[in-house]
Amino acid sequence: MKVLSLFFGLLLSFSSLAHPDYLPLHNLKPVLSKRLFLGVIGLMRRSFSPLAHQDGRELVIYSDYDSHWPQAFARRWDTDQVLIHGGMAGLPGTTEDSLALTLCHELGHLYGGEPYSDSHNRISAEGQADYWASMLCFPQVLALLPKRTPSRASLKMCEDNIDCARTLDAALVMTAFFADNRRIPHPEVTTPDESVAHEVLLTHPEPQCRLDTFWAGIHKKPRPQCWMPSIP
Ligand SMILES: [Zn+2]
Repeated sequence: MKVLSLFFGLLLSFSSLAHPDYLPLHNLKPVLSKRLFLGVIGLMRRSFSPLAHQDGRELVIYSDYDSHWPQAFARRWDTDQVLIHGGMAGLPGTTEDSLALTLCHELGHLYGGEPYSDSHNRISAEGQADYWASMLCFPQVLALLPKRTPSRASLKMCEDNIDCARTLDAALVMTAFFADNRRIPHPEVTTPDESVAHEVLLTHPEPQCRLDTFWAGIHKKPRPQCWMPSIP
């Protein structure tokens, strides 16, 4: 454990280089048990290792349940790596679904394809990681996660499609947290970001734009123009 703590300590000090996905504004105690936390991580590793193997590589997910930073990130070093702190299982409203979607976003940096924010290491841009997460990754693991009844509001938005509603519930947990960090209202599906980016945005889009991207991925619709403007 000491070695692991030291390892994470070093990671934190380099976090500005590694583009962490969630700012450590809070110290969040996990609301999921360690067993559930590690269960979701194991499920994701088993499900997506074949993508690394196709590339002749290994997927490793490092985790530290006892670290309460709400932070996760991905990088391609000697292995394909995702790093996640226990604080990511402590976001308000966290469920196994929202933790899985968070990991899908990180895996999306590794396997989501273009546009890349780092072409050399084939690290997908933030919006692309969100899009891949809700379109391809989450549907692949949904049936393997414990059954859950979605919120009524999401079921309504999804016209009673349970898979859609579970994905939306998870996306709302994530994007509400991003909004809280920015002290802005929580995003809603009914209030899409109508802005058009001047060029492809490779960094984190606004929380509403991110929810719109998850929503577009669920429905396999084009990526929203708030980060991915269509080419004239
Ligand atoms: Zn990211």
